[in-house]
Amino acid sequence: MRIGNLSGRLTVFTNAGAVDVEKASGGRFEADPRSVFEQWEVFTAWAAEAVSDADALPFAMEDLDAPSPAPAQVFGIGANYQDHASESNLETPEFPVVFTKFPTSITGPFSEVVLSGPRVDWEAELVVVMGKAARDVPAERAWDHVAGLTVGQDISDRTEQMKNQMPQWSLGKSFPGYSPMGPWLVTPDEFDNPDDLGLDCALNGVKVQSSATSRLLFSVPALIAELSAKLPLLPGDVIFTGTPGGIGAVRKPPLFLKAGDELVTTIEGVGEIRQRFRSA
Ligand code: ZN
Repeated sequence: MRIGNLSGRLTVFTNAGAVDVEKASGGRFEADPRSVFEQWEVFTAWAAEAVSDADALPFAMEDLDAPSPAPAQVFGIGANYQDHASESNLETPEFPVVFTKFPTSITGPFSEVVLSGPRVDWEAELVVVMGKAARDVPAERAWDHVAGLTVGQDISDRTEQMKNQMPQWSLGKSFPGYSPMGPWLVTPDEFDNPDDLGLDCALNGVKVQSSATSRLLFSVPALIAELSAKLPLLPGDVIFTGTPGGIGAVRKPPLFLKAGDELVTTIEGVGEIRQRFRSA
């Protein structure tokens, strides 16, 4: 099932179009997409039965917004693909490297991003949204707690990130618009193997990153097990799972985003997001 946020309203997407949940459910479920995660299982059970193509209307992709627009917690994972750890001269992590992207940086899938400086970089990532609170959840049961998967960019200002001797990842990755995600959540049951999805990123039509989530050093279940052993994961919480090799900062010469650039990020079985950049 594909579930998302169309102009601020909770929506299920069928092959025929967009089904507005509040209208189709006669008000049983609120229109606010933030409200659904607390009752995710009840909602998806209803949607599987009740949503039909007869209620679907045409829609414009540009009207999609972030599927979890205001999560309580947003986790970022660093150095979670070997090729990216190697290109960044980081040792293979023994435990997940965790930081946050502050929630005000979240935007929808098709956006214009104001560049915060001359050294802003891309990071294509699989994004996980939690559907059920998770505390001490073992990896074997982790997928049961996931609402869905979506596409994200962990846009990163490398100057801000690295200006102290101690790297400050969270602020450099939290400028407004630096956490675009979408176009919708795809529920885990839709995938033959949710642990092996192709992931690509193209800058102005040229492929700059290409990998698969089977190469994650810490898989989605491993991350949920590790994080939920430390703190509760709440419905609607977001995990940016890390980026594969191919970022701009480590290229020779380095390549950074500039005004007019277009970045397209794609995940197999989910879809694509598209960002255009402009200067302040
Ligand atoms: Zn990242």
